Amino acid sequence: KSAKQANAKYLFYAREMNALVAEKLILENRLRQALDKQEFILHYQPKINLSSDEVCGLEALIRWQTQDGLVPPIKFIPLLEETGMIIEVGLWAIRKAMEDRQAWKEKGLISPPIAVNVSSVQIKDKNFVPAVISVLDSFPDDKAGLELEITETLIMENLDDNIKKFYELKDKGVRISIDDFGTGYSSLSYMSKLPVNALKIDRSFISDMLDNPDDTNIVSTIIMLAHSLNLKVIAEGVETTEQVNLLRLLKCDQFQGYLFSPPVPPLDIETMLKARSTT
Ligand code: C2E
Ligand code: MG
Ligand code: MG
Ligand code: MG
Repeated sequence: KSAKQANAKYLFYAREMNALVAEKLILENRLRQALDKQEFILHYQPKINLSSDEVCGLEALIRWQTQDGLVPPIKFIPLLEETGMIIEVGLWAIRKAMEDRQAWKEKGLISPPIAVNVSSVQIKDKNFVPAVISVLDSFPDDKAGLELEITETLIMENLDDNIKKFYELKDKGVRISIDDFGTGYSSLSYMSKLPVNALKIDRSFISDMLDNPDDTNIVSTIIMLAHSLNLKVIAEGVETTEQVNLLRLLKCDQFQGYLFSPPVPPLDIETMLKARSTT
């Protein structure tokens, strides 16, 4: 190819790159203002007990409400992490979940514990545990309402540090569950060192388990080993009754998924809690 052609190609890439960088900067600026403008909201997805069919927990899942509609976390959490903004936004999510519980309580509605997702950037921050405790201290009547979901890979990165942090949180009544379990490399035996309450089996195993015996075996093994360590097991991303039936057979404890409910706004949860308190 001629040098001229190569040069033209380079200029094209350079222009593309600049456009990407500019786009990212714009997004970053909008995100910086999003907290102040109260554009972040929490949706909640119920966790269902497989033996009683009852709602036994809620998971808070953040969304960004913009003029163009609701933006899912995959589109902005990575940038929040890269810029460190996740520390503030993540703490906001924890406080908002506690506030929602309190608001429901003032209406006579008892909500099950709420699980909030926590990213590695948050946990590595040395102020993380004191910040969470300070939020909890402002809700003195709500002792056992908060759970944190932490992904498997993240815990193994700094195991000793994390064990210490988790025990401090546990002392304050915070429950901890391991998210996306099965996708990382941790051995279940590590889990016995950690004050963990539950494992959430990653959606990929649940969606494939009816077609793929390997996945059924993995799910079954995780459940048995987890139970031997006194951990509860939650199946993520359950979409069919066939999956529920198999999970019951395998003695899984709880499930979440579109089959029962997608993540919904707080008002929908309120309606659900009202219906529950009158039956
Ligand atoms: P996650 O914690 O593993 O959450 C499960 C994701 O699967 C959610 O996506 C949920 O909407 C989706 N899901 C639930 N049931 C089904 C189903 O039956 N089928 C399918 N296809 N999907 C289902 P979402 O809300 O987009 O959240 C994605 C991820 O973003 C979360 O994964 C979590 O890692 C992160 N995230 C969400 N909110 C927060 C937050 O407040 N803080 C932090 N640090 N991360 C968050
Ligand atoms: Mg989660
Ligand atoms: Mg998950
Ligand atoms: Mg995930």
